[in-house]
Order: sequence, then structure tokens, then C-alpha cells
Amino acid sequence: MSIQYPIIESFTSIQGEGMHMGKGATFIRVAGCNLRCRWCDTSYSFDPSKARLMSAQEIVDEIPMPHQHIVITGGEPTLYDLGPLVYELHKLGKYVAIETNGTNPIPVEWGIDWVTASPKPGSGFALACSADELKYVVDDEFSIEYITDHEMIEGRIFLQVESGRPESAQKAYDLIQRFPERRLRLGIQLHKFLNVR
Ligand code: SF4
Repeated sequence: MSIQYPIIESFTSIQGEGMHMGKGATFIRVAGCNLRCRWCDTSYSFDPSKARLMSAQEIVDEIPMPHQHIVITGGEPTLYDLGPLVYELHKLGKYVAIETNGTNPIPVEWGIDWVTASPKPGSGFALACSADELKYVVDDEFSIEYITDHEMIEGRIFLQVESGRPESAQKAYDLIQRFPERRLRLGIQLHKFLNVR
């Protein structure tokens, strides 16, 4: 039997964060997460029983995907074997990105084209996968020590402003100035400025 993915929602918008910011993209949100972050803005995705179970074939057949760029997000998508879904998306010529909290390894065999990892306080900022970019939400407790990856390519460690809070933006700005050797980058949510999803 083919794997069934609990899809809580899908929509087409722009990628509002990270290196691919501004690109048209379709987001496929998988339900279920192994963490419970205080400022989570997708808590509606926690319960897989509220999602529709779909096979990889049903996903590519039924979800409109006008752009080449696809983002598999959650919840935490690495809770599921994403190989069959990535395979079907690649057959359509799609570029497949994933957004993960970094707590699980990502098998190379899945063939994912771009990994955005956002380590979280709830996992002690664990990073169990290799990533193409890193995002850290700068909340009141965030500290520079939590960034353990010192090899990341220039400009790919984002300090993400928490929910648009000015205090978070100021803290991120200050960290960038205080630690120039860490080559950090301020991260915003462009879609929120544009008031789109
Ligand atoms: S890891 Fe992501 S989806 Fe899960 S609780 Fe944290 S912010 Fe929400």
C-alpha cells in the first residue's frame, strides 16, 4: 500500500523567507509535529486526524502547482517518508524544498533539493540533518550560543524576527552587529508585510 500523507492544507503564494524569498511557490503542509513551540503560528497542523490522507499520486494530481518551486512544510514533514512524494514531484519537473525543525535526519535518497532547518528551543536547538540554510527565531531567550553550525555558507544563517515584534528585530540587529564573524543575516517574513499567506 502506498504511503498516505496527512495534508492539512496547501496553497500557492510566494516564499516569504530565506534564500528563496520572493519566488512563487506552492506550499504543501503536512500535519503532526514532535515539538510544541510557544510562538508556533501553525498549531492548527498538530493533529493529523484533522488532515486529509493523500497518496503522493493524489497530491500531484489534485493540488494546483503553477510554479516550479514546491515547499513541503508542517508541522514537521520529516515524521513521514517523503521519498515517494519527492519522486512524484520531480517527475513533474518541480524543485522540492522542505522546511524542518531539524530534529530528524533527512535521507539523501529522498532527493530533496533544498533543506531549510529551523532548530527550536523545544529540542535544545538540535540539528540532526544537513541543511542548505538555517533559521533561528529570535525570541527573548535566544542566545548566539545556540547556533552550533560554524560551516554554513556566507549569508545562510538567518536570525528570524519573532512574529514581527520590534524587540526581536532589535535583538537580531544587535547580534548581527556584535558577532560579525558569525556572518549572520536578518530574516523577515515578506508575506506578512505583503499581507498574503
Ligand atoms: S517545530 Fe514548527 S510546527 Fe512544530 S511547534 Fe515548533 S514552530 Fe510549530
